This record gives sequence, structure tokens and C-alpha cells, in this order.
Amino acid sequence: MKPLITGIHHITAIAGNPQANIDFYTGVLGLRLVKKTVNFDAPGVYHFYFGDELGRPGTVFTTFPFTGARKGTKGTGEVTYTAFSVSVDSLDYWIERLRKYSIPVSDVLTRFGERLIRFEDHDSMGIELVANDQDDRSGWTYGNVPIEHAIKGFYGATLNLKTKDQTEKLLTEHMDYRFIGEENGRYRYGTQGKPGDLVDIVIDKSGNRGTQSAGTIHHIAFRTADAASQLEVRDMLTENGYQVTEVIDRNYFTSIYFREPGGVLFEVATDEPGFAIDEDEAHLGELIKLPEWAEPDRERIEESLIPVKLTVEAYD
Ligand code: ZN
Repeated sequence: MKPLITGIHHITAIAGNPQANIDFYTGVLGLRLVKKTVNFDAPGVYHFYFGDELGRPGTVFTTFPFTGARKGTKGTGEVTYTAFSVSVDSLDYWIERLRKYSIPVSDVLTRFGERLIRFEDHDSMGIELVANDQDDRSGWTYGNVPIEHAIKGFYGATLNLKTKDQTEKLLTEHMDYRFIGEENGRYRYGTQGKPGDLVDIVIDKSGNRGTQSAGTIHHIAFRTADAASQLEVRDMLTENGYQVTEVIDRNYFTSIYFREPGGVLFEVATDEPGFAIDEDEAHLGELIKLPEWAEPDRERIEESLIPVKLTVEAYD
């Protein structure tokens, strides 16, 4: 049977200062701001989407930046690290680049035979860059990061949980994931088992529950092809006792949400229609785009948003 879920679609974080957020993800990391819109559930707050040149599923890191937000804490029931994929020989470049912008970087770690580095953004958001030769996505670049070292999209995500069994059951029985392996208490799952679809569970039995605010992940979205496969996923999850929302239109995809047993908010989002639906591909992210229902309120919404600009040329 064709899999209904094929990997990670996007990962959404809560952030602090919107300009610092843009500076870091476009300037330092070299992701493209592919959409500048507002939180559809709270239109007074920006929603930024950073990704590859088109914001393809599997590359899109999104943020809700709240000016002056307090920092959250990492803990159980959360995605604690978002891992991006880079070429196998790119870590030295990234270590040097991050140091240049005064961002503390871990030593080079090894996990499942691959090398990686760990660091945090300005809000203490946990990020990893995993060097690997398994990523067959074509290269692209934005800003001043050379194409051979550019981030290719997600590698995977780490879920910090108190126990794993119920979440493992969800992933492997209802979400087309399979168990790949265990190393030092880290349990890895994948759809194809490739960068862009990997999910790791790290068990923290005594750990405190994370608190969501700036610097923490709000939810992780998994990808499904289209509206029909999304409904199939929804039916199957509902039949198995999960409390799943109705299908919600997010303009660039449609979404369903549910809380997985370990407490992490999961979303399943469609690959269609994508970010070029309301902007030309060459001009993605330039204007504040609103869903049709919010257009009558544009003036009021824009007044509540702090103006931001792309500063990518300052990050050479
Ligand atoms: Zn989402």
C-alpha cells in the first residue's frame, strides 16, 4: 500500500524578536524567507516561513515571533532539537560561520555513524546540523552561504518524551514510520529512513515537562500528498482513538492536528498547493500576505506588526 505519510512537512517554533528571527534564519543559516504572513489563529502576530528556494515540504522551518516573549524551557512533551541536513564535508565551514557571528557551537558529536554539531539561535532554540552523504535533494542557496555548504532541508527532529511506547506505536502503526535503530537511549524512526523524514525519541523519565514560549517548538507537521490522503490519515487516526481536528485551510496547505501520547502537538499537512499560490516564485516572502478572510482587516493587522526587513547582505 502507498504510504500516506512521507516524512516531515514543517516544524513550527515560538520565537522572540521578529527582526532577530529573520536575521538568524536568513542571514546566518541562509534559509530563504518564503512567506511573511500572520498567525491565522492570532493575526496580530507574524508567521514566518523559512525554507529552500520554493519552501518545499521537508525544508520549512516556521516561526511565530512575539516581541518581548519570555523564554520557554526545554523538557518532555516537546520537540527539543530541529536537525538540518548538510553535506558530509560542511561542518568545518559551519563551525567557522557560527563562531564568526558569536554563536557558541558544540564539539563535533557522532550519532548513528554521522557527525553533527549542536547550537542555539538567539532565543535558545535547539538546532543541529548533521553532515551526511544520504541526502539526494538538489542543492540550492540563498544569501551568502556557498551552495556546496548550504542547508538542504530538514534532517530530522528529536522528541523528548517520558516514555516511548505509545508514541512509537503511533508512528509505526498509524503513521507509516518504521523503527530504524537505537543508540545511547535515542530511538530512531523513519519513513524512507532518509534526511527529511527522521524522528528520534529521547527518553527522559524524570524530566520536567517543557514550557512553551520563545525558543521552543510549538508543533511538528508531517507531510501527506493531498486532500484525499489527508482524509485517509484523519479517518485512520480517529478510528484508533486519536482526537483529531477537522481539516483546516492554511492557504499554502491544509492541516489536521492532534496531540500524540507523549504530549507533542502533531500536524499532518498536504504537499499542495505550496507557497507560490499567492506570490510569484521570484518574489516569495517580500510582502505581508494575508488569507482572504483577513484582508478586510489588513490595515489594523499591519499596524500591530513591527516592520521587518531582510538584512541578508550584512551576513557575508
Ligand atoms: Zn504547522
